[in-house]
Amino acid sequence: MIKIIDTKEFSHFLRIHRNEVIKRWLAKNEVQHILHRHSLPIIDKNTHILYEFCDCYISVIQWGSTISECQVKLEFLELLNNYSITTAELFTMITRLKTSIEEIIFENGNLSFNLQMEIETLTIEMSRELASTFESMHGDNYDYKSENSNLLNEYKRAVDLSNIVSKTNPKGIITYVNDKFCEISGYTKDELIGKPHNIIRHPDMDREAFKDLWDTIKAKKSWHGIVTNMKKDGGQYIVDTHVIPILDVDGDVTEYIAIRHDITELEETKQQLRNINKAMKSKVDELYSMTHTLEEKAHKDNLTGIHNRDSFEEIFSLEIVHAKENETPLSLVLFDLDNFKEVNDSYGHQAGDNILIEITSLISQNIKTSDIFARWGGEEFVILLPSTTLEGAYSFSQKLREIIEKHTFSYKESITASFGVAELDGEDDKSTLFQKADKALYKAKANGRNRVEKIMVQCVQ
Ligand code: GH3
Ligand code: MG
Ligand code: MG
Repeated sequence: MIKIIDTKEFSHFLRIHRNEVIKRWLAKNEVQHILHRHSLPIIDKNTHILYEFCDCYISVIQWGSTISECQVKLEFLELLNNYSITTAELFTMITRLKTSIEEIIFENGNLSFNLQMEIETLTIEMSRELASTFESMHGDNYDYKSENSNLLNEYKRAVDLSNIVSKTNPKGIITYVNDKFCEISGYTKDELIGKPHNIIRHPDMDREAFKDLWDTIKAKKSWHGIVTNMKKDGGQYIVDTHVIPILDVDGDVTEYIAIRHDITELEETKQQLRNINKAMKSKVDELYSMTHTLEEKAHKDNLTGIHNRDSFEEIFSLEIVHAKENETPLSLVLFDLDNFKEVNDSYGHQAGDNILIEITSLISQNIKTSDIFARWGGEEFVILLPSTTLEGAYSFSQKLREIIEKHTFSYKESITASFGVAELDGEDDKSTLFQKADKALYKAKANGRNRVEKIMVQCVQ
């Protein structure tokens, strides 16, 4: 056991035990706690500064010098300051350094009372000195923080100016609204603060959307969506909305911040565009149907409504191709009203027209849908009979002739017609088949009218 009674012995002791003092100091619970709390890593550079500071402290104790003479003082304080260690924590660290020295001394011997008092006094003086330098460093830092806080205020101002902002507590009670919020909703701040946020809820707003909003923010996640809100006067406004939950250190929601952009005009413009599109679509549909009607009209005979000559010729060509390809018969019937000029002369042209309409209706009722009935011109009609032989067409024409003959017309009791019938031959085209039927019709007229004549292939010249 040694009893250290003078400074010479004390200095010698400290030189020998320097590393142990430092090790013990940094291992102290309070010191560890401070370093850990401020995440100050014990890397080489930092350890070096802490060792140097400890040496500095020892030299103050040893030689009675002041801490301001130690070069390492500022480096040590800057290190603590960089990790936001407080002045109180600085005191704790120095006190623990002193304790570490005392502990090692007492473990090895004893200290004179005077020396103990001297260490106490020097440590207090040194702590004061360090604290005051440290505080002035905080002062420097304060400017930086206030600058940062100004910047934050600027951001807040910018957000407030360009957005509709509100805050609610976790229960949805409004705790803050900015001017833009009041401006768009038509409420004053007093009317809003303390009220449930659903004061601005629009009745038309989809319930599912609100459920999704609450489910999301209660799960501590941000929500984004388009919301229709209601003004104080009942009007509506549409906002693009972000709702952000704010959490405390324990991860609990302390409040919700909602930041919105007014997109009413945009949404209304979109709606107008949708309406215009709808109107345009119905116009286009109308045009399509008009075109369709016009096309239909172009294919119909104005007076009777059956196929006109152009339309008939189109179908006639197709039927010839079809009959040849499929080797099926195809017959053509041509009929002309007898002495129709006299009808016109006796009853007038209008009566003649009506008789033409009546004849058309009569024939239409007595043919199959697959037969093609058309007005060739004047009081001359054609019927194309697919899958029908010459004989079939002949007897069918006889039947039609009799129907016309027996029919009682509105203006004139009896009207007759003459028929010419021909069948498609392998060599025929539209023109030759028509010529054959025309020839047969001519023959029917020549043989006394109200007759049906058929023509064989060899008859065509
Ligand atoms: P035929 O027995 O030889 O056929 O004697 P027709 O008097 O009927 O003579 P034609 O076949 O040459 O018929 C021509 C007449 O048919 C002339 C005209 O009076 C009448 N006609 C032709 N087209 C129309 C029409 O669209 N309306 C009316 N009302 N009469 C027409
Ligand atoms: Mg005629
Ligand atoms: Mg004629």
